[in-house]
Amino acid sequence: MKHSTSKALPLPSITLDDIGGLPDEMKEEIHQTLEIIKDPDRSAKIGIKAPKGILLYGPPGTGKTLLAQAIAREIGASFYSASGSAFTELFVGVGASRVRGLFENARKQTPAVIFIDEVDALAGKRKQHGGEEAEKTLTELLVQLDGGHSNDGILFIAATNRKDMLDDAFLRPGRIDFTFQVPLPDTKGRKEIISIHTKGKRLSEDVFASLNTLAESTSGFSGAQISSLFESASRRAVREGRDEVDMGDLDYAIDRTILGSTSRALNDL
Ligand code: ATP
Repeated sequence: MKHSTSKALPLPSITLDDIGGLPDEMKEEIHQTLEIIKDPDRSAKIGIKAPKGILLYGPPGTGKTLLAQAIAREIGASFYSASGSAFTELFVGVGASRVRGLFENARKQTPAVIFIDEVDALAGKRKQHGGEEAEKTLTELLVQLDGGHSNDGILFIAATNRKDMLDDAFLRPGRIDFTFQVPLPDTKGRKEIISIHTKGKRLSEDVFASLNTLAESTSGFSGAQISSLFESASRRAVREGRDEVDMGDLDYAIDRTILGSTSRALNDL
């Protein structure tokens, strides 16, 4: 999704507790990181520097954007978001000036989080990257990330499904200080995500009694796929004139998701 890079975006009222399936040690590390950001003076006294950049990597739909939004909310920051692809395929100089503009806007509204999704489109390895223009845009990003004191109050968060594609210069500490893997959820994680997405929904008793079964039958699903299961199941219930989602609707939605993934995989062969 392409976003405007010029304005802070409204943040949904999301907290870390609204994101299911994150490994416990990762949640712990994120909490510690946020404490450092929230109290930089105390952290400086014990010799810890606030991080400037965080990289989130993992498969699509696992909650990386949610996590960036929850972090911004937690530290009371304004939220600037752009997709890496918004900086590519442009006229000469436009990519670099968009990068500069994004940082300049965020510096006017600190504390600020700058979130770049699909960062591999912008910060891919230079050798495999798309020529001189892409190189200039990446160089501008590196310059902005190195902005010294003018970057105080700015936290840069980048997300990718392709960490292996990223340029080493971009990943250097001082630019990216923490890297978190956001994996596909395991059974326990899927149960957490299912509980999050069933909150406040009209579901029949048999669904509430089957949360464990649902978690088991959605092996390999991402958080985004689980969330869309409930939407697709609700649409089926409405089509059939019911006002409650039952297990029949969910089984139907699960089958369709599995079928969709299988035919996509076959098309990719
Ligand atoms: P992409 O790599 O494709 O950009 P992403 O990892 O950024 O995906 P999100 O955009 O955060 O994924 O997730 C999309 C939607 O899926 C969320 O708005 C939410 O409804 C649901 N979702 C994804 N992961 C989780 C999760 N871990 N817990 C709860 N809901 C989730």
